[in-house]
Amino acid sequence: MLTLIPQLGIGTADLAAAFLFLYGLHRMSSPVTAPSGISVAGIGMTMAVLASFLYAFGVSAAARPDLPVNIGLAIVALVLGGGVAWWSGRKVAMTAMPQMVAMYNGMGGGAAGAIAAVELLGNKAHGETELIVTLAGALIGAVSLSGSLIAWAKLDGVIEKPLRVKGQQAFNAILMLATVAVGAYIVVASVDPAALVFAMPAAIYLFFGCALALGVLMTLPIGGADMPVVISIFNAFTGLAVGIEGYVLQNPALMIAGMVVGAAGMLLTLLMAKAMNRSVSNVVFTNFGEAATHKQGKIQGSLKPVQSGDAGIAMRYAASVIIVPGYGLAVSQGQGKLFEFVKLLQAGGVSVKFAIHPVAGRMPGQMDVLLAEAGVPYDLIVQLEDVNDQFASTDVALVIGANDVVNPAARTDKSSAIYGMPILNADKAKKVYVIKRGEGKGYAGIVNALFYADNCDMVYGDAQTVLIKMIEAVRGLGLPAVA
Ligand code: NDP
Repeated sequence: MLTLIPQLGIGTADLAAAFLFLYGLHRMSSPVTAPSGISVAGIGMTMAVLASFLYAFGVSAAARPDLPVNIGLAIVALVLGGGVAWWSGRKVAMTAMPQMVAMYNGMGGGAAGAIAAVELLGNKAHGETELIVTLAGALIGAVSLSGSLIAWAKLDGVIEKPLRVKGQQAFNAILMLATVAVGAYIVVASVDPAALVFAMPAAIYLFFGCALALGVLMTLPIGGADMPVVISIFNAFTGLAVGIEGYVLQNPALMIAGMVVGAAGMLLTLLMAKAMNRSVSNVVFTNFGEAATHKQGKIQGSLKPVQSGDAGIAMRYAASVIIVPGYGLAVSQGQGKLFEFVKLLQAGGVSVKFAIHPVAGRMPGQMDVLLAEAGVPYDLIVQLEDVNDQFASTDVALVIGANDVVNPAARTDKSSAIYGMPILNADKAKKVYVIKRGEGKGYAGIVNALFYADNCDMVYGDAQTVLIKMIEAVRGLGLPAVA
């Protein structure tokens, strides 16, 4: 009876946690319900973590892993880890979110790898199947850990350039085969000690060393512009590794959470690759991020600066404006002022929409979150495929801190690093205003011919400062007060 109650508690909590993960994920599919979806999934995660403590209290020996569990140490780890996550989550700037996601993703892969290491080094995995499954989780988790850390370093600017050497892919393939061979040796030598040639812990360390090196070497050659897809792939890897180790530990909550993360990561990878018009293998095995070294043909036209106030007033007298927000808007934190400006235009009868590119900013969904923060109604926000045909009949496209996502080279220049990526057709609008600080390039490091086009004027300055000046200029016209 004493053991039955915790067992029932674990079962119920696992089931409830699984339901909450799935329901939370479902709510994340819309920006309106996403914040509550995150809370729901968070409650599920808290339940799953608390339920794992029940293993230590009176569960029958068959139902629990090796005890005694060091509960004191587990609580210290939880408080420390939870504290750091809470503090860093509150402090991180929206523009640094991708680095944070990469870092946390690496931690997840590392945790799955660590579980596998404990199983292997403690000789707890028995039989071929369990050993193979544990090693598969170890391999995927370790690759995800080291690969995500390299992705973090690239996004954070610690590693500035892709590192490529001749024959790298062949070397990576050999390393992969070597890792699998060491894994095979571990399985054979564990099942049949007579086959043991060199010490088992050494083989396990070698296996992890190869897997970690593989993650590093796979990620180093990939260019910065591909990092969002790469992080998403590693996200799927981490989920898979966690799910596999959940199977090894026979922990349903881990299995479900891992598989949900793995499936979501894989879907996000496919969607992002589609948004860039690339295949996943093309991202991983070709050098798309070589953009900075790309030689561009001579660009026609010239940059034409205009005053912020003049551009603001011109938009006030337009019939329709489509706004293209990009990374620079997030940097300047100008979203509040932008919406204030939009409300002024609307009060003057101008039709205004926001056009969102799936990879605008530095993380998927960043522009939606930024605009939601400012209180922009969702019906003003239109995604790329729904808005692109509307630019040609629009008076003004206002590009704010965006660059790559409106670069026409993606359509026309076959040698361009972003060739094939669908872009927002801002250049097709009758008039284009671009707000940016100077001649800084976008993430892909290429010059944008749109800025030199006849129908395009440049409004130089920090996005928020420019928007404040635009608001002042339009207010100066003496329009009716905004409701
Ligand atoms: P870009 O990075 O192409 O361009 C941003 C532009 O903003 C720069 O040219 C810069 O020019 C300008 N800028 C920077 N700070 C300010 C400021 N304070 N005020 C005004 N302008 C500013 O951004 P996009 O959003 O167009 O494109 C996103 C790029 O990032 C794509 O290449 C995408 O692949 C990549 N990426 C996307 C991720 C995602 O998941 N969304 C993750 C990682 C990368 P200047 O210096 O002259 O001001």
